[in-house]
Amino acid sequence: MQIVSYLIYLIASVLFIFGIKKLGSPKTARQGNTLSSLGMFLAVVITLFDQRVLTFEYIIIGIIVGAAIGSVMALKVQMTGMPQMVGILNGFGGGASALVAFAEYFYLIDHAPNLEVSTSITIVLSVIIGAVTFTGSFIAFGKLQGFVTGKVVKYPLQNLINVILLLAVLGAGVIVVLEPLNTINLYGIVAVSLILGVLLVLPIGGADMPVAVSLLNSYSGIAASMTGFVLQNNMLIIAGALVGASGIILTIIMCKGMNRSLMNVVLGGWEDAGSGEGAGGDGPKGDAKSVDAEELAMILDSAQSVVIVPGYGMAVAQAQHAVRDLTNILEKKKIDVRFAIHPVAGRMPGHMNVLLAEAQVSYDKLFALEDINDDFNNVDVAIIVGANDVVNPAARHDQSSPIYGMPILNVDYAKTVVVNKRSLNVGYAGIQNELFFYPNTLMYFGSAKEAMNKLVNELKEL
Ligand code: NDP
Repeated sequence: MQIVSYLIYLIASVLFIFGIKKLGSPKTARQGNTLSSLGMFLAVVITLFDQRVLTFEYIIIGIIVGAAIGSVMALKVQMTGMPQMVGILNGFGGGASALVAFAEYFYLIDHAPNLEVSTSITIVLSVIIGAVTFTGSFIAFGKLQGFVTGKVVKYPLQNLINVILLLAVLGAGVIVVLEPLNTINLYGIVAVSLILGVLLVLPIGGADMPVAVSLLNSYSGIAASMTGFVLQNNMLIIAGALVGASGIILTIIMCKGMNRSLMNVVLGGWEDAGSGEGAGGDGPKGDAKSVDAEELAMILDSAQSVVIVPGYGMAVAQAQHAVRDLTNILEKKKIDVRFAIHPVAGRMPGHMNVLLAEAQVSYDKLFALEDINDDFNNVDVAIIVGANDVVNPAARHDQSSPIYGMPILNVDYAKTVVVNKRSLNVGYAGIQNELFFYPNTLMYFGSAKEAMNKLVNELKEL
């Protein structure tokens, strides 16, 4: 039986690895999801055969209640609510790892009190990381959902207090390793770690939460991996390590996409981020030229190459279907249409890809920043739909700008730039966009869905 269970755990681990590999491209992502789910199903089934499972009643109740809540949440969640959904799931993952390690500690000191040092170290780490992830994720959820203030929270001696709590928790951890039978220390570790989770996430601004969620996702993986060591379960070690590593890689990609250091995000660097109240008033000024749907349709009708740049506004307006209609009608007129996707456009990784996939825009029309940026010189019209920061040329030259150094899409190199948004208002970074005042830029004001539909109707009449 043990060999069979090892073999099935191995198959599950391989399925996770192939699953995550396939998640790397939108074309194969669904397949990747199915493979990983199959791996998880196998892992759960084989775990139920473990000899230490004495009664199935609670497990069955747990599965029914959990599956019902999970299914309703997954069916109801809006695409824009995805970051908080992921956030809360990370929290449960971290909490589960901490609980399992905690329970295993009491089981071991009852049955085999001479705990090995390696086991007690992994128990302590699993409990600390899991508990921090649990409360940290709930704060992240609350900030995204609006229950907890989205503002950067600062108070005196904040970092010092966090460092003291961290040292206290690590100190108690050392005592657990040296004196495993002294159980009070583990209770102390749980309590302080739960507080630490709250204090570490509270300073982070609401709009920086997707980065924090990605980091917490990584923590939940590390906690699971530690629990794998505690239980000597290789599959859990591998699965946890995959989550831990991919979460940290995604966090780094997001920080690079915003040209921010992780420290800057974690310590609540951008006070104005996401508030829409930033340095907007002090930015470049001038006359922005506007265009209406009819004029824009004529400009597009004579273009040969068009690049569409979607951003947060497209997501808010749910304009992806209207954008797809625009693509179809332009293509009918033999105009080449491509999409330029900035890595941090929108408010979560892959936000634009998911929306465009939902609207059935073919993947081969989507180009990543590095694959299209050198080609904007050859583009007749770049249409920006609800994007702002990711096309702000100040990132290239204005050293005083908070987005200085952030890679941007070179839309201003196109012959004509059309920016669709409702006003000249700022985006997430809270800064004015000089692109709106460039001589080759035309503002096409309006909420993205209506504006795109209007444009499509005008194009139909030409
Ligand atoms: P921005 O937040 O810079 O700008 C979005 C623009 O959309 C606004 O200026 C707004 O202008 C416009 N808008 C809002 N509603 C509508 C609507 N109904 N119709 C049309 N336009 C609308 O978005 P970007 O996508 O350009 O940039 C993303 C930003 O988010 C970056 O700064 C990035 O660093 C940050 N970020 C991204 C994360 C990610 O993972 N993707 C995570 C965390 C932060 P107006 O009010 O005038 O309409």
